[in-house]
Amino acid sequence: MSNDTISIAVSKGRIYKEALPLLAHAGITPTDDPDKCRKLILDTNDPQVKLIIIRATDVPVFVNYGAADLGITGKDTLMEYDGSELYEPLDLKISPCKLMVAGPKGEDFLNTKGRLRVATKYVNTTRRYFTERGIQVDIIKLYGSMELAPMVSLSDCIVDLVDTGNTLKANGLEATDHVCDISSRLIVNKASMKMKHDRIKQIISQISEAVNK
Ligand code: AMP
Repeated sequence: MSNDTISIAVSKGRIYKEALPLLAHAGITPTDDPDKCRKLILDTNDPQVKLIIIRATDVPVFVNYGAADLGITGKDTLMEYDGSELYEPLDLKISPCKLMVAGPKGEDFLNTKGRLRVATKYVNTTRRYFTERGIQVDIIKLYGSMELAPMVSLSDCIVDLVDTGNTLKANGLEATDHVCDISSRLIVNKASMKMKHDRIKQIISQISEAVNK
């Protein structure tokens, strides 16, 4: 990609879809549909702007290393990533949900004897949360379907994203403790912010306008 190109790494799926109207407000509309083509880098109507469509957890990695100038991903992902080369200038207020502790319905699972076993994708955030409360935990890292863990006695509880609560309910679980609110954020590589300041400032301010409309 040329030095004048602005690349934006976007988390594929729900966040990508909800980010499209915000990007459109900044004059950025992809000319390909990632559901219909297998391209990983999408052209847009602006020849100087490309979208890189990747997994949520990879977005901060690409931006931290400068492989993308900007990124859009969930706060849940950003809280897990320890990068020093990122700014997080904007809450996009899309894909809102909550990070919650949940366990078998009606069980006082937090008062288990011995160490609490917690299954989660969010190892760092979960460790911080329980450490701050003086609760000793064994964390079991999973990559998906966290709800299964308490059902098969892999863990006492889980820490996971909750939107409607339907997934928890369907699996006999209930959310008990609120870890934090989550939404998607715009992130910027620090060096890109210096080198491509005018264009990036313009994109941030146009997206910000769309968020607050
Ligand atoms: P729900 O049944 O509506 O509470 O949704 C819960 C399921 O959707 C869980 O598997 C979550 O990991 C996932 N989920 C909910 N909200 C989000 C979000 N904003 N981004 C990514 N995954 C989410």
